Amino acid sequence: MLQTALHFSHTLLKEIIQEGDTVVDATMGNGNDTAFLAQLVGSRGLVYAFDIQKQALQNTEKRLVESGIKAQVRLLHQGHETIATAIPKDTSLRAAIFNLGYLPKSDKQIITKPDTTKQALDALLARLESKGRIILVVYYGHSGGESELMLVQDYSKKLPQEIYSVMTYQFINQKNNPPILFCIEKK
Ligand code: SAM
Repeated sequence: MLQTALHFSHTLLKEIIQEGDTVVDATMGNGNDTAFLAQLVGSRGLVYAFDIQKQALQNTEKRLVESGIKAQVRLLHQGHETIATAIPKDTSLRAAIFNLGYLPKSDKQIITKPDTTKQALDALLARLESKGRIILVVYYGHSGGESELMLVQDYSKKLPQEIYSVMTYQFINQKNNPPILFCIEKK
């Protein structure tokens, strides 16, 4: 059976992340991706996780402590647009993931936005290792979602093919705007 975009995002991360790597969860939420990344990088690795909602940090911290994987995660209560200053310039990143949209069962007004997503992508690309991947799972059915999808599409289409490979993964016959996955891989 074909994997959902969410499931496939983890498959794409698992393929390339090794113990000891440094990676980013750009949209922590309830910490599903943060916990997944922390397991993959192990105790010698490091996960930088960002969110602007305090509740996200609390939920994620609880989850990490319960699983005994908190030590390898830096939980940052700040937007991913601060990646350029939050992560040292000389740190090379193996991977990053975004789930763009709003946090289910929470305030639907708090959504990711095109301009800050672009700032984060610029900073991540500058630190991405060769063979490293940036994954974006884009939810776009909400108000404001279409413009963010446009930004991601436009941004990734313009990346030079000599340096990056970009793919999308999308179910085109499903109702209710299922998320679209983008994967940017550095050659
Ligand atoms: N990956 C998450 C999980 O496992 O639960 C779900 C992420 S949810 C779709 C999007 C999240 O992005 C929300 O928690 C929201 O607070 C957060 N967010 C919105 N703007 C942000 C920003 N500028 N920087 C970082 N996170 C942001």
